Amino acid sequence: MTIAASLLAACIGAVVGSFVALVADRWPRGEDIVVAPSHCRDCGRRLGARQLVPIVSWCLQGGRCSWCRARLPVDLLLAEAGGAAIGLMVMAQSPQWPGALALAGLGASLLLLVLLDVRHLWLPDAMTLPLIVAGLSCGQGALDLVSGPPLADRVAGVVAGYLALEALRRGYRMVRHRDGMGGGDPKLLAAIGSWLGYAALPGVVLLAALAGLGWPAIEALRGRQAGGDTPIPLGAGLAVAALFWLVFVQL
Ligand SMILES: [Zn+2]
Repeated sequence: MTIAASLLAACIGAVVGSFVALVADRWPRGEDIVVAPSHCRDCGRRLGARQLVPIVSWCLQGGRCSWCRARLPVDLLLAEAGGAAIGLMVMAQSPQWPGALALAGLGASLLLLVLLDVRHLWLPDAMTLPLIVAGLSCGQGALDLVSGPPLADRVAGVVAGYLALEALRRGYRMVRHRDGMGGGDPKLLAAIGSWLGYAALPGVVLLAALAGLGWPAIEALRGRQAGGDTPIPLGAGLAVAALFWLVFVQL
């Protein structure tokens, strides 16, 4: 992997990360995603080209709107940096174009799920269910676009991932008479199983649990204080753990 190719992959990834952050901001509000130009949430002024360079603009403006000086969400910077890292991951895997696009699609989808879960505790079926179909379709034994476990292992990953967390979710509700986990988490683990196979799931869940321990520090970075009753976005932890697993274990 040459330096120029890595830089290009990181830049494209950062641009995609910026778009993912925009989708995560507008989708839950029911706003137009494609046509409406980017603008400041506080003063409403339209952003120019200088304010739209991923990572660079955020840093040069000190994390504030250049018109009204309102704070920009740190999630935006993290999404752009995460997108750049995903671009490098796809480049390091360096499969043929269809495989690279499949991996990039997986990375961007997981990044969007992280943002939606962190901000809204929302893992929409419109994201998780197509991700299951894509995982079963793209891997070994189907279209063979990305390396990884055979189809049977990935089908087992879907079933095991869903059943394990759904049983935990229902068991908690039966014992505590309240929800301890969202309904989207089992579907997300099923989607992760469809790409990584059943054998990866215990490691992914363990990593997600460890990521959960760092949640108060992440909340502090976002300018909030996490208390004992603050819900932890398990889905975001699972998505980050799956990306970590893809890069450092499976590839
Ligand atoms: Zn502003």
